[in-house]
Amino acid sequence: MSVQIDHNLEEIRRFRPSPEFAAQAVASLALYDAAKADRLGFWAAQAKELLHWHRPFTRTLDWTNPPFAKWFDDGELNVAYNCLDRHVEAGNGNRIALHWEGEPGDSRDYSYAELTAEVKKAANLLTSLGVSAGDRVAIYLPMIPEAVISMLAVARIGAVHSVVFGGFSAESLRTRIDDASASIVITADGGYRKGKVFPLKTTVDTALADGESTVRNVLVVKRGGNEVEWTEGRDLWWRDELAAVDAEHVAKGFPAEHPLFILYTSGTTGKPKGILHTSGGYLTQTAFTHKNVFDLHPEKDVFWCTADIGWITGHSYVVYGPLANGATQVLFEGTPDSPHPGRWWEIIEKYKVSIFYTAPTAIRSFMKLGRQIPQEFNLRSLRLLGSVGEPINPEAWIWYRHVIGGGSIPVVDTWWQTETGAIMISALPGITDLKPGSAQTPVPGIEIEVLDDNGAPVSEGGGLLVVSEPWPSMLRGIWGDPERFTETYWEKFGDRYFAGDGARIDEDGDIWLLGRVDDVMNVSGHRLSTAEIESSLVAHPLTAEAAVVGASDETTGQAVVAFVILKASQEDAVSPEEASVLLRAHVARQIGAIARPREVFIVNELPKTRSGKIMRRLLRDLAEGREIGDTTTLSDASVMQVISDKVR
Ligand code: ATP
Ligand code: MG
Repeated sequence: MSVQIDHNLEEIRRFRPSPEFAAQAVASLALYDAAKADRLGFWAAQAKELLHWHRPFTRTLDWTNPPFAKWFDDGELNVAYNCLDRHVEAGNGNRIALHWEGEPGDSRDYSYAELTAEVKKAANLLTSLGVSAGDRVAIYLPMIPEAVISMLAVARIGAVHSVVFGGFSAESLRTRIDDASASIVITADGGYRKGKVFPLKTTVDTALADGESTVRNVLVVKRGGNEVEWTEGRDLWWRDELAAVDAEHVAKGFPAEHPLFILYTSGTTGKPKGILHTSGGYLTQTAFTHKNVFDLHPEKDVFWCTADIGWITGHSYVVYGPLANGATQVLFEGTPDSPHPGRWWEIIEKYKVSIFYTAPTAIRSFMKLGRQIPQEFNLRSLRLLGSVGEPINPEAWIWYRHVIGGGSIPVVDTWWQTETGAIMISALPGITDLKPGSAQTPVPGIEIEVLDDNGAPVSEGGGLLVVSEPWPSMLRGIWGDPERFTETYWEKFGDRYFAGDGARIDEDGDIWLLGRVDDVMNVSGHRLSTAEIESSLVAHPLTAEAAVVGASDETTGQAVVAFVILKASQEDAVSPEEASVLLRAHVARQIGAIARPREVFIVNELPKTRSGKIMRRLLRDLAEGREIGDTTTLSDASVMQVISDKVR
C-alpha cells in the first residue's frame, strides 16, 4: 500500500537556529559526516565515549543471522553502574538526579549518591529473594522514585524488568505477568490520581487470585496509605525489607546482549507485543540521542519528560538516557490538570526546567484550554521543547513554540517506537532548520527510507517507512514469539525493518509522518493520510483536536469521517451543525475536494490509549456502524459510549 498525497499544508515557515543556541549546541554537523563515512565505526565510538565497559568490546555488529542483530556482543557492562555509580565516582555524587514531585504536592530530591545507595540496597533485596540474572520482575508502580529505583536494581543484578503501567487492570497485569513468567511483583499500596488514592496492591491481589502463578513474592511500597490485604509469606513491605539488607553492592558486568527489559507496546492497533530490549546497544543509543537531540548540558540543565515509566518514552527518556548522561530531571506523579490546569507550568517554574519533552495530545489539550493558563507562570527557564507519540500538527507545533517556548526556542519532533528503543528521526537543535509538523531527518547513524509497494525507495512523495540498516537500540524480538517478530516487521521487505507507519519525503528530503499504515484511507482510488487531514482540521480556529478515519462508502470505496473537539472558547460561538459545515469546506479548500469529510462529528472527547494516542480503530467501528471492538487499552472505556451517543 502506498501513501500519495500531493499538496502542502499552508504552514511553510522555517525556523533557523539562533546564533546563540548554535554556538553552545552539543550536536554538530560532524556527527552526520562521521556516521556517513563509517556508520559502524561511529556507533562503536559513541558506545565507548558514552558508556563505561566492564570489558571492552571488539565486535560492533553481527548481522549474520537477520533479523537477529547483536551489537558490541563480546563486551560487558552494567547498565545500572552506568546510570549511577560512575557519576558518583566522577565527583558528581551531590548532583540532583531526581526532583520528585508527588501529586498531592509533597516532594523529595535524590542526589546521584543517594539514588545509588538506594539501588544498591534494592539490588541486595532482590538477590535475597532469589532473583538472579535473567529472571523477570514485574513492576506495577505509580510515578514515584521507587519505580526508578526498582528498574535500576533489577538491571543491576542482570534480571529483566517488565514495567506495567499503573493504570492497567488486574487482567492486563496478569496477562503480562504470565507472558513473562515473572517471579516477583513490585507494587505500592496505592498511588495518587486527581486528588484521590487509587489501589494498586488490591489489583495485584486480584490479578494473582486465580490459578497458579509464577509469582513468589509481592514487594509493596507504602505510598497511598490505603488499607491492603496481606498474604503472609508472599507479601513484603519494601521499606522493612530494605532496612534489613546490606548497603554495599558491587555491580558486575553482563554481556552487551544480556536482556534488559520486556515492554508491551501501547496496543493502539491490536494486541500488545512484548518487545525485548538488551543492554549495550540500547544504552548507547538512548544516551546518544538524549544528549544530542535534547542538547544536554548535564551540569546545568533540568530535563523533564512527562511520560509515565510504563511506556517506552519513560524507559528511555526518564530512566536510562538521562541517568546514563548524569542529567538532573523532574519526576512527576500526577496529571497535568490536577489540582488546577496550570500544574505542569507550575512545576516548570518551580524547578526551572530547561528541556521539556511531552506528547502532542497534551499540547492540544492545553490549546483547547487556552494560552492564558500557561501565561500565568514563569516559563523562561525553558530553552528546548520536544514532542513524541503522534504526528504534531503544524498548528500545535507553532502554539508549543510560541506559548510555551516564548517564541524563540527550538522544538524537536522525535519519531520512534517501543520497537526502536530510542529516537530515530529528529532534527538536531542548533543544527537543523526546523519545519513545523515534520520529524525531518534520521539521527546520525540511522538509515531510514520511504519505499513504494514494490520495495523501491521513493525520493520524493509518499510510501512506507522502513529502517534499512540495523541500529543499536533495535528490539531483539517479541518475548516468546519469534514468529510474530519476523512476520510483523521483517516479512514485507526482507532485512529492512517495516515500521508500520506511512511517511512522505518532501522536496528537501525531509520526512513527514502520515500515521499508521492501517489508518490510511482510500477515497475513490486516492490514498489519503489521517495525519494531514487532522492537521488541516486543527489549523482551523474552531478546532482543538481532531481524529479522522476512513469509513466504507458505497460510492467512493472509503469516505473521510472526522471527529472534532472544539476549542473551549469557541463552544458557544457556533452550533455543531455550523461548525461541521465550516470545517468540511475548510478541508476541501486546504487539501482538495477529495479530502472533504463526508461527515464531521463534533464531540467532547476522543478515545485514547493510556499513553495518550488516538485509537482510530474504534472510531472506524463507530463510523461504519459496527459493534465497538476491544477497548481494554483505552484510558477511559466510557468515552466510546459518550461519543457514540453523540453520533448516533
Ligand atoms: P501498537 O504497536 O501496539 O499498536 P503503538 O504503535 O501506539 O502501539 P508505541 O510504540 O508507543 O505503540 O508508538 C509508536 C508509534 O507512535 C509509531 O509507530 C508512530 O505511529 C507513532 N509516533 C511516535 N512518535 C511519532 C512522531 N514524532 N510523529 C508521528 N508519529 C509518531
Ligand atoms: Mg506500534
